[in-house]
Amino acid sequence: ANLVSHLPITEDGAFANKAALVFADGSAMTYSQLGRLTGRYAAYLNRLGLGKSDRLLAKVSKRPENVALYLATLRIGAVYVPINPTYTAAEIDHFIADAQPKMFVSDDMSKDRSLKDKVATVICENELAEKAAETQPIFDVEAVTSADIACLCYTSGTTGKPKGAMLTHGNLTSNAETLVDLWRFTDKDTMLHMLPVYHIHGLFVALHTCLLSGASIFFHPRFTIDAALKWLPKTSVLMAVPTYYSRLLAAKEFTSEVCKNVRLFVSGSAPLSPAIWDEFHKRTGHKILERYGMTEGLMVCSNPYEEELRTPGTIGKALPGIEVRVKDYVLQYRGPNVFKGYWRQPEKTKQEFTSDGFFISGDLASIDDNGVVRILGRGKDLIITGGLNVYPKEVEDALDLLPEVHESAVIATPHRDFGEAVLAVCVPSVQSDPKSLEATVISALKQKLAGYKVPKKIIFVQNLPRNSMGKVPKNVLRQTEEKAKG
Ligand code: ATP
Ligand code: MG
Repeated sequence: ANLVSHLPITEDGAFANKAALVFADGSAMTYSQLGRLTGRYAAYLNRLGLGKSDRLLAKVSKRPENVALYLATLRIGAVYVPINPTYTAAEIDHFIADAQPKMFVSDDMSKDRSLKDKVATVICENELAEKAAETQPIFDVEAVTSADIACLCYTSGTTGKPKGAMLTHGNLTSNAETLVDLWRFTDKDTMLHMLPVYHIHGLFVALHTCLLSGASIFFHPRFTIDAALKWLPKTSVLMAVPTYYSRLLAAKEFTSEVCKNVRLFVSGSAPLSPAIWDEFHKRTGHKILERYGMTEGLMVCSNPYEEELRTPGTIGKALPGIEVRVKDYVLQYRGPNVFKGYWRQPEKTKQEFTSDGFFISGDLASIDDNGVVRILGRGKDLIITGGLNVYPKEVEDALDLLPEVHESAVIATPHRDFGEAVLAVCVPSVQSDPKSLEATVISALKQKLAGYKVPKKIIFVQNLPRNSMGKVPKNVLRQTEEKAKG
């Protein structure tokens, strides 16, 4: 069935008069208002000629109307294709050529004018919002099967060009229902939502769990410390990327008092360092629940809901209904969460599945006897030095626990004798001469790690490059390092 038919956004639903979205100024949009606005968008999209299976490319800002745009696209059986609004026209060319959308919604036509000839219908989100507001809503939900595509989501492009993942109504619905159960969502919940809505974390994991359960969403355009400090005291669930947690910890006003009503802090999209987990626990008394997922498989593993059973540095166990295993150090999984394949790339899709139907994630992992999974890093980032494997994450976790290091990224650098050598790029937490700091850090690491894992060299920088999901693009880091060498 259509994901939208599972959401209580009807005129007479149980939560019709309850706030679905609450905004920074305290105003709100109720569940029935969200349903009605969705109906208006659905009618207007239909009028523009968007129909079943047509793609709608959404390069849109984070505003409530665009939540309705998303739900309306699914409601009429069309395919929602969200992309990061900071992409330039040249970058968007790639997505247009690939997704072949029938409609393109832009947050800023002054930047996207050149794309007008490339898509049948191009419309600015402001104009669309005005037109939709004047349109009579339709309330029917297009019948789809669970194998029909709801969204085409591009991967974050951390390791290369973003790949289009076909996600079905069945993928979205089953994953959201599983999370509602596992993380115990109810209509009493209030979520602080500061994540972007063009990525699975903010769009699916956060919105779907709340909307399925009748919870209220504190809807903020982006993460800011000020808004977080103001809204957290009213919040029961925060979903965040690891950088939000490190930035919260950097604010001295962030105390256990601020978190007094929070029942669940979730982290994902990038590895959460045990050092931050620990500092967060000491400061607030809360154990962050780390979970793991990816565009191709939505949420795959999660630490348990029971706080005392959560373990830093692990991603917990496979979600109910999902099987995981590790073959040749690579995590594989199978279940109703797994995408239908890469858009228009049947060969690549075939390569990424085993003959018995497991998806090969590309992430290196280990599983203990209890089924608890640890991510060791991406296969593409594995360092082989003198024939020995070094998992960057193990070295990063050790570095981050040192008092001299704020955060770190470990990469390979070409080496005459060893093939590759371990190189660390670190943001220091103390001010000191780089040469002596490097010596101190290397000798401290030698106490903790086997010699071949200890970086041969450490470069100190002010900041690590990070994309909007808080991931460090290591190919960028490697290029920077090569350029620096000349
Ligand atoms: P691309 O596939 O285009 O290179 P990407 O893999 O970063 O980009 P996403 O699908 O957004 O695109 O991210 C999924 C990846 O994020 C996972 O494969 C994993 O490497 C990483 N990830 C997500 N959650 C965690 C976590 N809790 N711990 C470690 N890594 C995580
Ligand atoms: Mg990926």
